[in-house]
Amino acid sequence: MLPRMSRRADSVWSSLKGHEEPLRQLREALSRGRFSQSYLFVGSAGIGKRRFATLLAQCLFCRAIPDEELEACGECSGCRPFLAGSHPDFLLVERESGKRELTIDKFIGDKEERGRAGLCHDLSLRPSAGDRKIAVIDDADSMNDESANALLKTLEEPPPGAVLILIAAAADKLLPTIRSRCQEVRFSPLSETQLAGLLLDQNLVESDEEARRVAAVSGGSLVMAAQLIDPQMRELRQILRNWLRSSTAGGIDLAKKIVELADQVQTPGLDQRAVARWSVRFLVEAINDWVRLDCQPRLAGDSSLADVASWTQTSTVQGPDRIDLATDCLEPLLALDASLEQNVPVPLALEAGLCEVARLWQRR
Ligand SMILES: [Zn+2]
Repeated sequence: MLPRMSRRADSVWSSLKGHEEPLRQLREALSRGRFSQSYLFVGSAGIGKRRFATLLAQCLFCRAIPDEELEACGECSGCRPFLAGSHPDFLLVERESGKRELTIDKFIGDKEERGRAGLCHDLSLRPSAGDRKIAVIDDADSMNDESANALLKTLEEPPPGAVLILIAAAADKLLPTIRSRCQEVRFSPLSETQLAGLLLDQNLVESDEEARRVAAVSGGSLVMAAQLIDPQMRELRQILRNWLRSSTAGGIDLAKKIVELADQVQTPGLDQRAVARWSVRFLVEAINDWVRLDCQPRLAGDSSLADVASWTQTSTVQGPDRIDLATDCLEPLLALDASLEQNVPVPLALEAGLCEVARLWQRR
């Protein structure tokens, strides 16, 4: 067998950006015989937790390389069906698109098949190919209490050979009883450089410059970056900048425009609420640029600032007053974001928040 170092270049993990620390932790646990049966992967959405869990599963199914090396050959009788998406001992549950909750039927079957289907049932059956079954539960933080209690029984007494990997962006939304039965592994957001690299690798952007620009405002999340690249999101960003420029900026019209645009967007995950939250981010970004330009007028080469420069000149407030006004505007924007996070109807939340911003912005 090749020594471990010589395999690094074509390691299965080379397709993943970042997350060296979780990888180190799990390798160590395996080599010390302390690998847990239940893990909870925690970290922001869109940073590669599920991809990590999938690679981990492949390595554990690989029959050519010892577990503690946490690598996969890609060709053995464990790897091939896994890569083809047909490994009989790999189970995955995730929230269906458009649904807010991970429902109980995913765990113990629907009403007709209660207890005879679902993840908990499947996991209780003997592995068909080797000695291990691996279950990945994505969006675990969207389990309702009923689902969580069904899963809890399995977590309390996992069947021999079963490995459960729960994935969550907000661990505090999980029942404490679930959390306490899992080994927690923390995932950090991607760095701007890692995210920019990923955007280029996946051909999601056309240039280094665009990759850097998108990565800078995506909070280390590929999901956020992919949403930002949507052409209608670019249009939205421009609409909001034009709105700030206009001397008669009104909140109600803008709220309507945002909702209309949101209803046309096709990118998965970009529903009305997500688009509204992007509007808040874009406004914060534009107002920050407006302040920065006043404090530091020469910023050649930054296209987003050049855009703001064309309308910042008309402002009547300057220096510290400008910072004050920006701070005042941030308050209703943060409140708007908080209400969008709740179940408040999007058009209502937008109207209230944007009218308040418009009122303050008149001081400009
Ligand atoms: Zn293999």
